[in-house]
Amino acid sequence: MKNHPHDAQPSDPELLPADSIEVRHSKDSSSLHALAAIPAGANILQLEGDVSATRTRHSVQIGEGLYIDAPAREGARELARELAHEIAHELAHKTPFTSYRFRALNHACDPNARFVGRVLQARRDIAVGQEIFFDYTTTELSMVHPFRCTCAAANCIGMVQGFAYLSTTQQRERSSDLQPHLLRLISLQP
Ligand SMILES: [Zn+2]
Repeated sequence: MKNHPHDAQPSDPELLPADSIEVRHSKDSSSLHALAAIPAGANILQLEGDVSATRTRHSVQIGEGLYIDAPAREGARELARELAHEIAHELAHKTPFTSYRFRALNHACDPNARFVGRVLQARRDIAVGQEIFFDYTTTELSMVHPFRCTCAAANCIGMVQGFAYLSTTQQRERSSDLQPHLLRLISLQP
């Protein structure tokens, strides 16, 4: 079937099989890793959950003042995981969950993936075992939990606080990876 000309963002893109990636938990954090070789341009996962005006540590901004995150019950589940890591690790292995895995995505300033609409897409080839990252400043205008980045990329921005805190040069360098609600801001610049 041909794509409808108005479907800039197909609602049901072809995603990699769910077992191509996995969430790994460490003491203080989670991360998302490739379990198969992922070619550049592949659609890794799709954002899902509840859309609201509330920012959380794990939400992803998908529009002006709009954020997507797992339903609150999943947040509670995550807290339980963090508080009882040992048990959580056990559970994770017994019942590997395939929902809301975007919440485990960490930031990098020269990442191997980016969001195109709600779909996480590989920016370059990703090898088996590699962690999958995206640049939080390509989705978030202003983050609820800023932090200092230690990604060691040549273009590392240091404090990650959101798109609004980047220099004009840094904002423009990201133009090909930006979500529409941020790209629009660049077009408003003199
Ligand atoms: Zn960095």
